[in-house]
Amino acid sequence: YLLQLYQPLNIFGFVYRGIKESLNEMERMFELLSVNREVQDAPAAPALAPRGGEVRFNGVEFAYDPRRPILKGLDFTIQAGHTVAVVGPTGAGKSTLSRLLYRFYDTTAGSIRIDGQDVRDVTQESLRAAIGIVPQDTVLFNDTIRYNIAYGRPGAVQEDLDRVAEAAQILDFIKALPDGWDTMVGERGLKLSGGEKQRVAIARTLLKDPPILILDEATSALDTHTEREIQAALRDAARGRTTLVIAHRLSTVVDADEIIVLEAGRIAERGSHGALLAMGGAYAALWAKQQEAV
Ligand code: ATP
Repeated sequence: YLLQLYQPLNIFGFVYRGIKESLNEMERMFELLSVNREVQDAPAAPALAPRGGEVRFNGVEFAYDPRRPILKGLDFTIQAGHTVAVVGPTGAGKSTLSRLLYRFYDTTAGSIRIDGQDVRDVTQESLRAAIGIVPQDTVLFNDTIRYNIAYGRPGAVQEDLDRVAEAAQILDFIKALPDGWDTMVGERGLKLSGGEKQRVAIARTLLKDPPILILDEATSALDTHTEREIQAALRDAARGRTTLVIAHRLSTVVDADEIIVLEAGRIAERGSHGALLAMGGAYAALWAKQQEAV
């Protein structure tokens, strides 16, 4: 009798080990992709229903390592269609804000809401569909430039591609290539410059047409001409969208509705460019320092 009981358990154990091994495989894969497995959809989570795209950080605290807090209680709102720029010294936690909004990580305390909906309560898929990111460093697929831009919205027609490439100020560049839209790019194809890659990312994002935009400004300086072109393209892209600008330099923040100066995970100053200059504090000092460097 005992033996009879033992048999099925043994079989179960065998199957269980199999599952466990493939789970380990998956864990390794996720590690490679650096996906955080702690972020999971709540059971039966609904899709995010964006309206205007208001973004609200409410008492947000965060640490990658519990022994070292990075964000120490942040409160700010980006009204629908407005632009908030975050500036501050390196390591202050600026890029971390965008990772939390995109829900690569969950906050340790406090919440992030889009049109009143906590990002933890909605599906990750719907959250990420509502947010476009123009990252500091765009990774291109080893494929055509067409594929790399159309990736923003599979099924896009040529007319759409032309429109977004023009808005991102890269259409003339593409047309001048011998193979045009069919030019292979990426590691094994044509290597694009930092500025060109960023424009591909802008075009891709425009095609996705999200209500919320995260612009993670490049740390490396581009030449003045390219920089101006990219800024114009970014300004167009931000129009009518709720935009969070992560500014590693100060060049893109002047027109923001609000500038937040982040220092060691806390808001040190906030206001418009003019108001912050008039205050003569940390922002004014950063600005003066940058003007010297130019
Ligand atoms: P910069 O202007 O240099 O890009 P930042 O203000 O954007 O800086 P963050 O990238 O948000 O800074 O990083 C804030 C802090 O968190 C840094 O001290 C960094 O070392 C730490 N950090 C960032 N990413 C991770 C991670 N994946 N694991 C552990 N610590 C991290």
